[in-house]
Amino acid sequence: MNRNPKISGNGNFKADGYQSVESCKNQLTQLNDLFEAKNPDEILKWAAATFGSKIVMGTGFGPSGVFLIHRLYQLGLPISVFYLDTNLLFSETYELCDKLEKQFGITIEKITPEYTLDEQAEKFGDNLWYKNPNRCCFIRKVRPLRNYLQDKSAWITGIRRNQSESRKETQLVEYDSECDVIKINPVAAWSSGQLWSYIKDYDLPYNPLHDESFPSIGCIPCTNQVENGDHERAGRWKDIDKNECGIHLPVQTGT
Ligand code: SF4
Repeated sequence: MNRNPKISGNGNFKADGYQSVESCKNQLTQLNDLFEAKNPDEILKWAAATFGSKIVMGTGFGPSGVFLIHRLYQLGLPISVFYLDTNLLFSETYELCDKLEKQFGITIEKITPEYTLDEQAEKFGDNLWYKNPNRCCFIRKVRPLRNYLQDKSAWITGIRRNQSESRKETQLVEYDSECDVIKINPVAAWSSGQLWSYIKDYDLPYNPLHDESFPSIGCIPCTNQVENGDHERAGRWKDIDKNECGIHLPVQTGT
C-alpha cells in the first residue's frame, strides 16, 4: 500500500504507514523544510514508520554512526544496520563493530565486494587503491552498496554538512538516484562537537584512532592522520584529487 506523506496543519508528519520512494521523492522540499527544525530522533521515528522493513542504516563506525546506533537502540526502532567491509578496514574498526554488537545486542550486517583482495590484484594489479582509487572504491564500496540497496526503499547515513566542502549541501532527506532509494541524513546539521559530547555523556565506545589525529577513518591505504587546522576529512585520499568514495554522490535533492 502506497500512501502520500501526510503533513498536518501544525506541520507534523503523520507517519502512519509505508510510503513509496516515488511519493517521498515528490515531497523532498516539504520534508526538508519540516525536518530542518526537528531533532534526529524525530527524523528516525518518521523514517522507521514510513519505510518499515524496507529501510536500513549504513555506518562506517565514525562518531555519527555510534550516535545513530545508540539512538535506534534507545528508541527501540527495528532498523537493520550494515557496513561495507572492503577487507581493508583497521583492526580497531572491526573491534568497534564487535563492541557495538555486544553492547546493543545487534548484528551489524557485513556487505562484501564481489572480489577478494587477491582476486582484485589478479584482475587489476597490485595496489589498485593507489593506481586507480576510483575503480577500487567502485569495486569495494559503490557496487556492493548498489547491489545491497536493490530491494530497499531507503537508507540512513551519518554524513554531515560541515565534514567537508563536498558535503556542505547535504539535505536531511534526499533522493539517491544511483540506487533509486530515499537517503536520510538525520545528523546533516550537527557538528562534530555535538556528536562527541553525546558519545562522552553516554560513555559510548568509539574508534581509539580518533584520539590519534584520525578524525575520519576509512580503509587503511587511504586514511592518514591530519594536521592541526585541517578539515576532518583531510586525511582521506591525502595528496590526490579525491575526497569521496562515490557512495554519497551524486544525489538529487529537493531544492
Ligand atoms: S578507500 Fe581506498 S582502499 Fe578503500 S575502497 Fe576506496 S580506494 Fe580502495
